[in-house]
Amino acid sequence: WLDQTIAHARLSETSCAVLLIHIADFREVDEVFEVRADDILAQDAGALAQAALEPHHFLARLARDEFAVGVPELVQHSRAHELGARVLGSLSEFVAARGLQMQIGVNIGIAIYPRDAATSESLMHAARVSLSEARESGSNQMRVFNSAAGERARRMRVIRRDLWPAIQDDALSLVYQPKYDVKTRGVVGAEALCRWRHPTLGAINPAEFIMVAEQSGQIDKLDDWVISQVCAQVRAWQDAGLPVVPVAINVSGLRFASRNFAQYLLEQIHQHDIPPSAITLEITETAAMKDIGKSMETLADLQSLGIHVALDDFGSGYSSLGYLKRLRVGTLKIDRTLIGGLDADLQGRAIVGSMVALAHELRMKVVAEGGESASQLDILHAMGCDEVQGYLMAMPLEVPAFVDLLHSARPLRA
Ligand code: C2E
Ligand code: MG
Ligand code: MG
Repeated sequence: WLDQTIAHARLSETSCAVLLIHIADFREVDEVFEVRADDILAQDAGALAQAALEPHHFLARLARDEFAVGVPELVQHSRAHELGARVLGSLSEFVAARGLQMQIGVNIGIAIYPRDAATSESLMHAARVSLSEARESGSNQMRVFNSAAGERARRMRVIRRDLWPAIQDDALSLVYQPKYDVKTRGVVGAEALCRWRHPTLGAINPAEFIMVAEQSGQIDKLDDWVISQVCAQVRAWQDAGLPVVPVAINVSGLRFASRNFAQYLLEQIHQHDIPPSAITLEITETAAMKDIGKSMETLADLQSLGIHVALDDFGSGYSSLGYLKRLRVGTLKIDRTLIGGLDADLQGRAIVGSMVALAHELRMKVVAEGGESASQLDILHAMGCDEVQGYLMAMPLEVPAFVDLLHSARPLRA
């Protein structure tokens, strides 16, 4: 439900919140009052839901002593705090009403999308960090904690500090997610996606370190590293006699708009002696819109070099259909939030359907990102969508697994 809530918040440009509620000392309740803690908790959940929540809030029990509340369409961030306070109030009332002469320790951690995190995973993580800070600040106390601004800032500093050496030492890596022809179901391309396993923070979501890279001026360096890695990889695959498919590289709007971008790319292509058609680029709509004049210049340069460009994440922001015509990119890549909505409702289907039709009208190819179910694939097929990329067909793959796939995808020759 959290994924959906976030997707909805993204589309409607609102916020949403997660409240993680931990109830301490239930073991003691168990022993002292000779009632099953589980029973109390189950009723707590009901009491919480009735007393504090509104009908459109979600309540989920994550563990014996832990609940999560999802608040969609959060208009003011302070509303999440108010709700937390109400939950605390209703819980203590509940305990009093049951005649339980004891204090239970309730702690709440709150995280808000998009302020604190951009994905459901990182939002839950942020809520968990807030919760542990709330718990550290006192047991048997009811406290609502703000999102872990301090923890987050610390994390950002570490990422910012360690990214540069990681790029230089080749500590980043690339995975390759295949793209499939919707009709023939054959592999027709791939997207290179950056991965970073930090020595202490573990695997960091690319959305997170790319954002830091953009904010700290390291994105040019990162994007250039990816370009040279992919070019070298394609060279190696060609040398090994593999049937290479075009590989898409994500390029930040900042790098795309910088003066020598097309030149750098061309240098890399020449240096590795690969055809320009082996590389495609993915840029996001918002990046392209920032300086449309400059973007169009760069696009024209790239086109004259024979490099194909796709507009990534289409439909995730302010989709301006008018710009599509002016931008003249070859491919439209429909954002996965829209593809995820295909199964659910007719409206979502209508939106994607008209995007496909419009793109074809403009002689663009259409790629669907984030195909996760067979029914989505069927719908996309019926709409005439050209290519699809998603967990249904394949996850982003490490190089050896991707090579296996290329081998097996090799068309049989007579
Ligand atoms: P993106 O370019 O839109 O990449 C597609 C994202 O969707 C990838 O996330 C991919 O793993 C994910 N995805 C693919 N199929 C599915 C699916 O069926 N379901 C779901 N839920 N997700 C799916 P990832 O790898 O986490 O990358 C996130 C974003 O980070 C990328 O979005 C891109 O904007 C950025 N990024 C990744 N690598 C690079 C890079 O080398 N350079 C730059 N500048 N940005 C990068
Ligand atoms: Mg992409
Ligand atoms: Mg995308």
